[in-house]
Amino acid sequence: MSLLEVNDLTVKFYTEEGVVNAVDNLSFSIDRGEKFGVVGESGAGKSVTALSVMRLIESPGHIESGEVLFNGENLLEMSDEEIRSIRGNEIAMVFQDAQTALNPVYTVGEQISETIRHHLGYDETEAKERSIQLLDTVGIPDAESRFSDYPHEFSGGMQQRAIIAMALSCDPDLLICDEPTTALDVTIETKILQEIETLADEFDTAIQLITHDLGVVADVCDRVMVMYAGKPVEKAPVEELYYDPKHPYTVGLMSSIPRIGDERERLQTIPGTMPDLVDLPSGCSFHPRCPYAEESCTRSEPALVDPETGAVATDDDEHVAACLEYTGELTDGLGYEVTVRDSSDDAEVETVAGAKASSAVDTDVPDAGGDRRD
Ligand code: SF4
Repeated sequence: MSLLEVNDLTVKFYTEEGVVNAVDNLSFSIDRGEKFGVVGESGAGKSVTALSVMRLIESPGHIESGEVLFNGENLLEMSDEEIRSIRGNEIAMVFQDAQTALNPVYTVGEQISETIRHHLGYDETEAKERSIQLLDTVGIPDAESRFSDYPHEFSGGMQQRAIIAMALSCDPDLLICDEPTTALDVTIETKILQEIETLADEFDTAIQLITHDLGVVADVCDRVMVMYAGKPVEKAPVEELYYDPKHPYTVGLMSSIPRIGDERERLQTIPGTMPDLVDLPSGCSFHPRCPYAEESCTRSEPALVDPETGAVATDDDEHVAACLEYTGELTDGLGYEVTVRDSSDDAEVETVAGAKASSAVDTDVPDAGGDRRD
């Protein structure tokens, strides 16, 4: 049994502009100790998915249907009291913006201790000891004296570390990290990601890492789900996604990763923007931006299928994608190709998607599972 199993989740927001289809019929699972990446641009539905798992969707949002099974129990059917005892205890979340996640009028240490006292029933002294130990573990120098600092006395990187310490304080089974390093500079980002990874291994904690950056996923995750307009468009083990991407949107995301030593004059981007979720395009919602779109793409909505057979995806399929190419409905096919460049000096392997068709993308991809180079 998976630690987390999300089945057919649909979330809508009822706004004055209309009904926003934020998450549409989404299914995925995360195993115990697994590191699972959720990737896509703003508006893809990544954060709404995470908030749904935590049951933190507020009005005008509404979870329309589906189930969120955690250790086999449906979180969506639990009482408020039951879900509160799971939140912050068995499932914890690290938000994008540490500044807003920390309360400015309490010391950092007190905020971590309070979580520990509340969820683990420790007394004041024990909670303080554990808090200092955690602050030390996440790399806060001189943790004992920094325990009494207020959030404004911490740098941005230290605040984010404190949030991670708080999230890990109750030894959660699942840690949801929503763009945990977006507000930080690159050197701190790398350190924080390494810490999250190390701590997750140490505590045997599963991670759901939400990001718009496929480079971050390559560093940290075992499996990835790429989302577009509230739906999954590709799911795969991380190496397969990098070496053999099946969806044009995934290829587009890869082409927008900047890298040191990149000789391209301009960074490739995906043309256009995420569609209006109130009024989604017909057929494949990616078709207005897809370089391979054909007439059939404006009519038929592609299902998530096994790209090898075209059969509707099942839980047993490791690599699935939602594109009409795999159900034989495209005439010209997908015009990109992927080549692997082997740099013999350091045995580094690169994956490059090049263009065959005139409209195809030129993509550089970081070494999956290796060092980040952006
Ligand atoms: S179905 Fe058509 S528009 Fe959608 S990703 Fe495939 S080729 Fe592009």
